[in-house]
Amino acid sequence: MKARLSQRSARTRNLAPQTRNPGWTVRRAHSLQIVQSRGLAKLGWLVHGFSTRPGGESLLGGKHALNLGFTDWDEGERVAANRAKFVTALPARKTRLVTLRQIHSDVIHIAVAPVADAPKGDALATRIAGLLLGVQTADCVPILLADRRQRAVAAIHAGWRGTLSRIAVKALGRMRMEFGTRPRDVVAALGPAIGRCCYEVGPEVAQAFAAQFPGAADWFDGPFDQLAHGEEPLWLPWLTMMPPGHVPPPPRVQLDLRAANRWQLLDAGVPETQIDVSDLCTACRTDLLFSYRREGAKTGRMMAVIGVRS
Ligand SMILES: [Zn+2]
Repeated sequence: MKARLSQRSARTRNLAPQTRNPGWTVRRAHSLQIVQSRGLAKLGWLVHGFSTRPGGESLLGGKHALNLGFTDWDEGERVAANRAKFVTALPARKTRLVTLRQIHSDVIHIAVAPVADAPKGDALATRIAGLLLGVQTADCVPILLADRRQRAVAAIHAGWRGTLSRIAVKALGRMRMEFGTRPRDVVAALGPAIGRCCYEVGPEVAQAFAAQFPGAADWFDGPFDQLAHGEEPLWLPWLTMMPPGHVPPPPRVQLDLRAANRWQLLDAGVPETQIDVSDLCTACRTDLLFSYRREGAKTGRMMAVIGVRS
């Protein structure tokens, strides 16, 4: 697979440089590139995929883009056409898409049927065949879960707030309650998201994580301990180095949201070998992905979907 992708990179923009992670493959269909977890792809009873940017009916910076979110700058008809194209390319034509109005919460819905007015929340779970659960992201972590014993699935949207409130673990708990899911039977995939390389956050985030997770320092780069405990790191040396009248930028740290969510799943009992973590960074790869942090409001939304086949 790797060799084939490398060969193609000469003539098309693609995911080759970052598919060294053996847990992932790229499906090409209908001029789209769909990122898939090998762990989930092994389960023949389910369909899943993480969308990417190229292709589609939307126009961004003069290029076609597969925007799957109803954003202000895009036309609803184009988004609907993009969603239809994505579902066809998966392929999951016989499924019905269920989405949410995402609010950076820890609210989890059990999906029973598509509804015209999408409910507010940030995770969906179901055991009903023919429903395709979708969460939209443009930096936040899309997490897909599959219980291979009970044949139940979940799609989760985890930004820093959702991660802080342990939405992935709460979704697992809800699956246990509703479907009898045991963590050891769960296969998980954490898709393309903003990486540790690009996700700068301020002291308030560092402090919130330090208060919730004893091991949080592992997920941060930079002066985490100082920020987490309210000390200004190297503040005086900074000041003396600056020309008069210039105020140095406030200290920041970099957060690895996927590492935090992976740890939560491990801690909840999901086996390490059953968790695939993508290494694609949305902000580094705006040629392939959408990044709100990098591009601002005028960017698209990707979608991560999972469903039980009919
Ligand atoms: Zn990056």
